[in-house]
Amino acid sequence: METLESKKDMPKYRATELLLKYGITPTQQRIEIANILFARPQHVSAEQVLAQLNCEQQKASKATMYNTLGLFARKGLIREIIVDPTKVFYDSNTNDHHHFYNVDTGELSDIDEGHMLVSNLPAPPEGTVAERVDIIYRVRNAEAGSDTSQ
Ligand SMILES: [Zn+2]
Repeated sequence: METLESKKDMPKYRATELLLKYGITPTQQRIEIANILFARPQHVSAEQVLAQLNCEQQKASKATMYNTLGLFARKGLIREIIVDPTKVFYDSNTNDHHHFYNVDTGELSDIDEGHMLVSNLPAPPEGTVAERVDIIYRVRNAEAGSDTSQ
């Protein structure tokens, strides 16, 4: 399970630098949100970031959180992973990689780089170029009785 308890504070100036590098104006709230996202590599929902932010003195609305995370994703600071319209994760790892999504637990996890080779990709449609291939490999818990430990 992804949890947020092991948050390590990134120095404020580092978050500020990071935002500036991606062309994002570093407001106090954006710095706080960046600190939460980059505490470690993780996949978090907007609700999780909001809960974390609001338990640390700050008050932010859900709308502000979605706007901020959307801005971060558009600027390439984080990656938005849309599992389905009601399940969006934000990934602090923007390197090319794929994911396992467990439909039973709702958990998203990385597939190690090099463990999945995508081949025989069709040519992109006329007038387009490839940007990225990201695959969500949907899994479910094995039937009871079989080994489900991972
Ligand atoms: Zn990931």
